[in-house]
Amino acid sequence: MASLSPPFKRVALILAAGYGKRVVSAERSPPKQYKEIAGLPLLCFPLRSFLFHKEIHRVRVIIRPQDQFLYQNAIDKARNVWTNFKWQKYLMDPVIGGERRQDSVRAGLESLLSSPPDQVLIHDGVRPIITHEEINACIEALSDSPAVIPVLPLTDALKQYDDSGRLHHSPRESYRLALTPQGFDFTAILRAHRTFTRENFPDDATLAERAGLQVKAISGKPSNFKVTYAEDLLRAQSILAPHSSPGTSGMRIGWGYDVHPFIAGKNVRLCGVDIPHGKRLTGISDADVGLHALTDAILGAIAAGDIGEHFPPTDPRWYEADSSVFLTHAAELARHAGFCVHHVDVTLICESPKIAPHRLAMRQCVAHILALEIDNVSIKSTTTEGLGFLGREEGIAAHAIASLSPCDMR
Ligand code: MG
Repeated sequence: MASLSPPFKRVALILAAGYGKRVVSAERSPPKQYKEIAGLPLLCFPLRSFLFHKEIHRVRVIIRPQDQFLYQNAIDKARNVWTNFKWQKYLMDPVIGGERRQDSVRAGLESLLSSPPDQVLIHDGVRPIITHEEINACIEALSDSPAVIPVLPLTDALKQYDDSGRLHHSPRESYRLALTPQGFDFTAILRAHRTFTRENFPDDATLAERAGLQVKAISGKPSNFKVTYAEDLLRAQSILAPHSSPGTSGMRIGWGYDVHPFIAGKNVRLCGVDIPHGKRLTGISDADVGLHALTDAILGAIAAGDIGEHFPPTDPRWYEADSSVFLTHAAELARHAGFCVHHVDVTLICESPKIAPHRLAMRQCVAHILALEIDNVSIKSTTTEGLGFLGREEGIAAHAIASLSPCDMR
């Protein structure tokens, strides 16, 4: 079976078609994959890991028919939190699963036939803590094996009941716990699922084995646990809660400063807004001192040099350039480095023009360039009380601070 196009080379299927009776107390309460932890339904956490992984080209969730509303609600909630909306294009419509786990997986595999991927990763939707490192390990192992399973050694002592109901010690060394995501050559696992529909299989690796596929075992992580009991929800909550909002973990702060002198002219451009004035600022580009300070602040947060390094004043391309180009570039570099601009604060220092009447327009402009909410863009102004070159109205200075939070690398 040939793969259609490179974007569909690898698809992740997330299984959310089960109903965990050990966690939910009454038949009417939502299945555990929709229980909220850290502000989002549980399912959103594994979903996020795959949606934001560069080597996973599409993600599809397999759900129960009666859960369509719950699923849509989960996606709507994620949309409010994951503000880098690019992830949405990687999410395929959900498909309806079947009675047994393997029926659901088969439904997911069959649904991909219109543009079959080369490989598929199958993950339990109730394993919320799956890292990119684990997904990478699975993908790497798939390069020379048609089937991959992450496993974990047992750490507790193992006991086994005999026929009379007595417990006996059993050596644990040869046992492993089976985790997900399990990775497969798409054609091979689809064929295996189609062939063995009658027998019951606990997971896809067992089915692959039954079909004669070589299953390669890789080391899994203990943190990739399956939410089975109510206590597991609390455990997941305690691990995931600190990461559900930007918080301060891994946050970067950058600072920038710039000055441009006045010359004769009509308008002063500040933070993207042209303000009528008897002078204009001069410099290479449009001399937008506010955007220059802000660009340097973002570059500073990712330790990527300064604006002059990226846009040398000697390069004629930047003569009269719109400074939004510089700011956009700095934000793009930050994203490549794994950071999203979270909040910016610019202080403009001048006796004139008056900034206050234009503050809102400036905030809107910067918010637009950086794709931020306007509440995360602060623009302030002050004077030097007539002192120094700024007091003599020879130019305008700007300070800027940008805070950046770790974000995903799509
Ligand atoms: Mg400058």
